[in-house]
Amino acid sequence: MDSDCIVVGASFAGLACATALARAGMRVTVLEKKADAGEKLHTTGIIVKDAIDQLAILDGLPAEMVRRVTGVRLYSPNLRHVDLAAPGYYFLATDTPRVMRWLAARAEQAGTHIAYRALFKDARRTQSGFDLGEFGTTRFLVGADGPNSAVAKAVGLGRSSQFLFGIENEYAGVEIPQPHLLHCFIDRKLAPGYIAWVVAGPTGAQVGVAQRLRGRRQPAVDAIAEFLRKIAPILDLRGRSPTSVRAGMIPCGGVVRSVATRRALLTGDAAGMVSPVTAGGIHNALKHGLAAGYAIADFLGGKREDPSSWFVGSYPKFHVKRVLRFLFDRFQSDTFFDLLLRTKLLRTAAGIVYFHHKGVFDSEVRRRDLNSTDVEERRFE
Ligand SMILES: Cc1cc2nc3c(=O)[nH]c(=O)nc-3n(C[C@H](O)[C@H](O)[C@H](O)COP(=O)(O)OP(=O)(O)OC[C@H]3O[C@@H](n4cnc5c(N)ncnc54)[C@H](O)[C@@H]3O)c2cc1C
Repeated sequence: MDSDCIVVGASFAGLACATALARAGMRVTVLEKKADAGEKLHTTGIIVKDAIDQLAILDGLPAEMVRRVTGVRLYSPNLRHVDLAAPGYYFLATDTPRVMRWLAARAEQAGTHIAYRALFKDARRTQSGFDLGEFGTTRFLVGADGPNSAVAKAVGLGRSSQFLFGIENEYAGVEIPQPHLLHCFIDRKLAPGYIAWVVAGPTGAQVGVAQRLRGRRQPAVDAIAEFLRKIAPILDLRGRSPTSVRAGMIPCGGVVRSVATRRALLTGDAAGMVSPVTAGGIHNALKHGLAAGYAIADFLGGKREDPSSWFVGSYPKFHVKRVLRFLFDRFQSDTFFDLLLRTKLLRTAAGIVYFHHKGVFDSEVRRRDLNSTDVEERRFE
């Protein structure tokens, strides 16, 4: 065998999984189709506090790569707003290309081999793993290759069918009013099924729109132009060219079925583990990517059964969030949000959505040191 495990995708899920495997002494190769982990990203890159608190892989994240956001300003369609915060809670807006390169360097320091410009196309099953042709053979295969997973296709696993589409302009060097807040705008015409947003990142202003991919809707590029017109009284970016544009699909239908098969599993967006309500996927990708790495290492080290039989049961179910997604898709109403914005009901609901007072972000994985050799101490869910 050339590798104990081949992980496809050098992003949050794949790098976390590979780091855990390498720390456990496994020979791990990451295949990444891009030339660099930080190029052509498709995310706003906001990391929630819970991820910082719970995941040791983020320990030591350099301060210059992040900017703290301590609350949310939620705008109704008529641009009235409420400010929301929870004591001690924050988000980190990130210089995501640099964070991704930092995560890749950490994985390499742990012993991972990352092969860039390596496009995974197919895998042939062997008695004890998979043969990936030019990329060698492996005892285990992980699909961390995003929402349109080639690994899922190659090994016959499930793929997401419900998506949001997000597009974001970045304006380097632009400051926004109230930069300590994440500005979220509800508007059924511009952002059906989700929100539009403005956030101050470490390198500039990030302005985005995401829409549910179903039914009639305005093309996302037109929606972002109209959004810029709408927010001009707050932040006038009309006529400015963005320094970069990021866009991508966001799975919002929950974890795919099937998510694992003998000696292969999916994690991160490939598995569909994005919150159907907030569309946040970075915390889950890191958390479950890491946990997958440890579970695979235990299996390959002869300590546990194949994780496809037990481990994937720990993946998030999103029961409540899927119901909320269903309701929001069908009953989103601008009049409702205009009328109820300042009510206790809406503030409570928004507090739960943004600050995770309950649900998937509650502490499920005990914080642990990646360097620890005490594998028995681990607890996944
Ligand atoms: C516009 C937008 C904004 C978002 N903002 C946020 C946010 O602020 N906070 C948050 O928590 N979540 C956000 N999300 C969601 C978040 O970005 C994803 O959940 C997260 O990136 C998932 O990480 P991942 O590692 O699973 O997959 P991805 O980040 O999608 O990475 C997949 C990797 O696999 C590689 N790859 C794909 N196919 C192949 C192949 N065949 N061979 C080799 N390599 C391959 C890709 O190049 C990529 O590097 C956003 C999404 C979008 C689209």
